[in-house]
Amino acid sequence: MAGRIPQAFIDELLTRIDIVDVVDARVPLTKMGKDFKARCPFHDEKTPSFTVSADKQFYHCFGCGVHGSAIGFLMEYEHMSFPEAVEELAGAAGMPVPKDSRADSEPAEAGADLSGALQEADRYYRLQLREHPQAHHAVEYLKRRGLSGEIAARFGLGYAPEGWDNLVRALGRSEAQLQNLLRAGLLAKRESGGYYDRFRNRIIFPIHDYRGRIIGFGGRVLDQGEPKYLNSPETPLFHKGREMYGLYLARETIRREQRALVVEGYMDVVALAQFGIDFVVATLGTATTREHVERLFRFTPDVTFCFDGDRAGRQAAWRALENALPALHDGRQISFLFVPEGEDPDSLVRKEGRDAFLARQGQATPLPEFLFQTLQKRADVSRLDGRARLAELARPIISKLPDGVFRQMMLERLSTISQLDLGTLSTLMLKTEETKVTRAVTRTPTGLKQPPSPVRSAVAMLLQNPALVQHVPDSNEFAGIDAPGVELLRELLALLQAEPQLNTAAVMERFRQSEYRPHLEKLVVWSHPMLEHDVEAEFRGLLEQLRRVAHAQRTDALLNKERAGGLDQAERAELGRLLAEKSRLDTPEPNR
Ligand SMILES: [Zn+2]
Repeated sequence: MAGRIPQAFIDELLTRIDIVDVVDARVPLTKMGKDFKARCPFHDEKTPSFTVSADKQFYHCFGCGVHGSAIGFLMEYEHMSFPEAVEELAGAAGMPVPKDSRADSEPAEAGADLSGALQEADRYYRLQLREHPQAHHAVEYLKRRGLSGEIAARFGLGYAPEGWDNLVRALGRSEAQLQNLLRAGLLAKRESGGYYDRFRNRIIFPIHDYRGRIIGFGGRVLDQGEPKYLNSPETPLFHKGREMYGLYLARETIRREQRALVVEGYMDVVALAQFGIDFVVATLGTATTREHVERLFRFTPDVTFCFDGDRAGRQAAWRALENALPALHDGRQISFLFVPEGEDPDSLVRKEGRDAFLARQGQATPLPEFLFQTLQKRADVSRLDGRARLAELARPIISKLPDGVFRQMMLERLSTISQLDLGTLSTLMLKTEETKVTRAVTRTPTGLKQPPSPVRSAVAMLLQNPALVQHVPDSNEFAGIDAPGVELLRELLALLQAEPQLNTAAVMERFRQSEYRPHLEKLVVWSHPMLEHDVEAEFRGLLEQLRRVAHAQRTDALLNKERAGGLDQAERAELGRLLAEKSRLDTPEPNR
């Protein structure tokens, strides 16, 4: 989708806006030296390590490693998609996003129509809860559930009356409007022609995105009808694998209290809120995805999933665990709270009250316990072959964890339980990794702790100071070097020579979809003395070093060829020239 908005527009946008303003409006910044600092909004810290550079138009946290452009910041902090972030910034800068480019990505026009239809429907449903002659059915139901008028209003609850065409008749003024309602998932098509209401005789729960815009609805049936809960279908605005019910209302509390609880139904969210438990969100009838988990981790490092204690609940919990593992960087934690069979959080909190419910949450099962308990049910560790099986089952799961202390601890735990020594387990893990990581070519170890290679240093310097490109007359000058990263260096040089006005943020945005991105992400935040003092002189020195490497490699190649079978006339002349230059260039330095 990123490719749909013209690159030139994004470049222009990133030079016109100031990331300092964008961040400062959300996270107040203090000037320190030439940069700006704040306590990091993405991890918990006492001293500020979150830095915003006006020169580079780039932010970076030295604590947790997050970084990016103003676009990236909005995507992380406001949970916007790429086009949304661009739109937001463009709006603030007074630059209209080129129309044609939006047409086939997130259709803006159609999106606006859809959004309008959803808002109208929302007003309609809320009005019915207050005024419809049959609304007392709904109101009584809510009262029986112990919900106050205030909570119903806070969550914007509504009522879809009994009948097949209430919404059709109330809002379907034109064929175009009927089409919008259909695309918004509020109507369905009759086989015989015409439309009918999707939500009938239900309490309506509007579903908001992170900004509070309505993107869909959920409905709880009022009688014994099926299904008990019904959601809007997926639409261009509504993606169940991404959205969570209640996040818009809960996010400030989640951030403040540094904890989040994920339940399975919107009734649970509303019921818990009635008891003052406000850090709760619900998935929307789908399994918990990694995207859900990542999104919550932006607000708090502590997430608890609540599931039924029955078999289905434990299976759902296991799926959530598997999807969450890749997001479990050090410092983040996940727990599982299983409610007794036959209960759900809604019934439980009404039966036991707030304090007892919170106490249960406090005693939720930490992820490692849940993981090993579950695996031990599938492998008898009192037997040798059972322990081997346990190790075999655990291996692909632990290998999903990102590198770090937590992963190491999980391995140690596995070693204790399986009685396999840690060395053997680590070797086994490596094998899993190898099959997982295909062609590691672009993943050449960046080795940032070791002395950097000249090629990598050059890429890092150019990324952080794009103006240095003026010192390189020809982007192909180093193309012949045989070293990791040369292709990237050449591409970067070509880009900057064609468009020398790009700043760091704009260059990084160019590579957003590129295979080089992980590589560039490390280099753009790499810090090294040579990037701090007299950058120009350092860079010229680096170029000289690269020329030597190119020179030496070409000379070697020609000498080898000469030994193997001889050179043609042009090659012989080139070799002569190279050897003559050699004295000028000192001793060639080996390519590191
Ligand atoms: Zn941070």
